[in-house]
Amino acid sequence: MLGNDRSHGLWEKTAPPPGPCTPLTGVERTDVAIIGGGYTGLSAALHLAEAGVAVTVLEAVEPGFGGAGRNVGLVNAGMWVMPDHLSEVLGPERGQRLLDLLGDGPRQVFALVERLGIDCEVEKNGTLHCAVGLDGLAEIRQRQAQWARHGAPVRLLDAAETRARTGSAAYVGALLDARAGTIQPLAYARGLARSALTAGARIFTGSPVRDAQAQGGQWLLSTDRGTLVADRVIVATDAYANGPWSQVRTEQVHLPYFNVATPPLPPGIRETILPGREGAWDTREVLSSFRMDRAGRMVFGSVGALSGTGAAIHRAWAYRALRRMFPRSAPARSGRNGMGGSA
Ligand SMILES: Cc1cc2nc3c(=O)[nH]c(=O)nc-3n(C[C@H](O)[C@H](O)[C@H](O)COP(=O)(O)OP(=O)(O)OC[C@H]3O[C@@H](n4cnc5c(N)ncnc54)[C@H](O)[C@@H]3O)c2cc1C
Repeated sequence: MLGNDRSHGLWEKTAPPPGPCTPLTGVERTDVAIIGGGYTGLSAALHLAEAGVAVTVLEAVEPGFGGAGRNVGLVNAGMWVMPDHLSEVLGPERGQRLLDLLGDGPRQVFALVERLGIDCEVEKNGTLHCAVGLDGLAEIRQRQAQWARHGAPVRLLDAAETRARTGSAAYVGALLDARAGTIQPLAYARGLARSALTAGARIFTGSPVRDAQAQGGQWLLSTDRGTLVADRVIVATDAYANGPWSQVRTEQVHLPYFNVATPPLPPGIRETILPGREGAWDTREVLSSFRMDRAGRMVFGSVGALSGTGAAIHRAWAYRALRRMFPRSAPARSGRNGMGGSA
């Protein structure tokens, strides 16, 4: 995407090509305008179009340009915070509602992928939240106890089972969440975009919204070359917000995160790392994540930005971390396919 290997890297190389979209020109009309073509905007467009609503997406670059096309691809069933924390902050009713939605999220994603026939390397084999040291073990025990009270299918693994499942002796245990899994994130975004188009939505790419004016009960949305008139607007720009809604960014905490991908691991090694193809991350404050792709590459990530000299530093650090975690089987070096962005 945009020829930048450090933004979408491997995901760009292995995703199906983007759909046939063009920039908005002239004046167009729609019932619902959606700003941003990530998971939020594309899913909203798909479901509205399926319900018979005239819906139009305006995307600054192309579907999946933001977090949706650069992430680790962990289809999680929760958040970083502890499950009980949600009720403490939101109150018991709203907290429980959010927990139910989060817990059901992976099932909904997998059902959508199946119904729409999206080819995005789905693995429904769960995720492993790997414990580093005794503090990490205490954390995953607490998580397990809290999720178990909500009837969630989460299980604590001891050090031996964690080692067998990850291929690494770096962890003293793990929390296996059977609801979760992994996808190829950009392929999923492009699949959602194609399905939304098929359902009747319109998607204009290369169309950043520069200005939004409410006039006579309608919205006038201006891009570089056109105007969209809409009855309603859904803003789905998240961390990549620019234009009229960039104040959203001031309400967010931006955490840079990078991924590097190894070349496909040779047979013999490939089967020793995540043989069950779970997605994994750990309990460190500066966390690391690792997962395999369909071709047997390991995608390894951590906190940091792949920009300027940071690219070489993070790649070297990732290589050293891989050697530490998988001393007998780490690849000779990590590949050049970096992916990064702000989570
Ligand atoms: C490196 C990284 C790793 C991550 N790992 C995971 C993970 O493993 N699992 C997980 O669940 N989540 C992960 N996340 C978070 C996840 O990617 C986001 O939560 C998700 O992408 C949010 O989707 P969205 O549609 O709301 O926003 P985005 O996907 O960010 O899409 C927003 C879109 O809005 C567009 N836009 C912005 N301003 C305008 C404008 N003015 N006009 C038109 N278009 C505009 C942008 O171009 C962009 O395409 C990760 C994020 C990053 C960056």
